[in-house]
Amino acid sequence: MAKPKEIVKLPAKVLRGHAKDVPVNEILSSRIQGLISDMKEALKNTPDGVGLAAPQVGEPLRIFIVSEEAEEIDRVGGRSQKGEFLPPHAIAEKPGKLYEERAWKYYVFINPVLKNNSRRKLDGPEGCLSVPGKFGNVARHEKITVVAYDESGKKFIRGAAKFFARVMQHELDHLEGTLFIDKAHNVIEVKRNDNKK
Ligand SMILES: [Zn+2]
Repeated sequence: MAKPKEIVKLPAKVLRGHAKDVPVNEILSSRIQGLISDMKEALKNTPDGVGLAAPQVGEPLRIFIVSEEAEEIDRVGGRSQKGEFLPPHAIAEKPGKLYEERAWKYYVFINPVLKNNSRRKLDGPEGCLSVPGKFGNVARHEKITVVAYDESGKKFIRGAAKFFARVMQHELDHLEGTLFIDKAHNVIEVKRNDNKK
């Protein structure tokens, strides 16, 4: 089996470029299908990620994936047992895990286009697998609607609110070369032991 793709981190240039559309007639090609499965594999291998964009595995293409875990966080809430709000990565690190971990499904968005958004924005904590150790608050639309192609080449529309909508906005930004640290306020740096060699 091939080695799982490494997640690209700053200062890699691919994170700062404008990603290109995937030709729709190439969605079923082995190149794109392989890339999608590499992305799922890479996200599965990071215990603290809920979304991943193609530039984060070094491919400047307009594809992102979001874990079903983001829906679970919306359902169950991102709060510790003490009731403090936890950033997504801290939730995933499970200090006060309130939900059962499962084999999450991944939603695939190819050539996503933002169709609609609520005027109202919510402030919330974010981190990024490509910007390890940094967290900050970002104002995001409470609700958005996105039109995209799925991995079978079918066009679909997805409306989302709250955390899932936040993850989609974070991933859409990746396709423009924008990172959460460009928009965040109160960025903090968390030193932690990285047990990966
Ligand atoms: Zn990110």
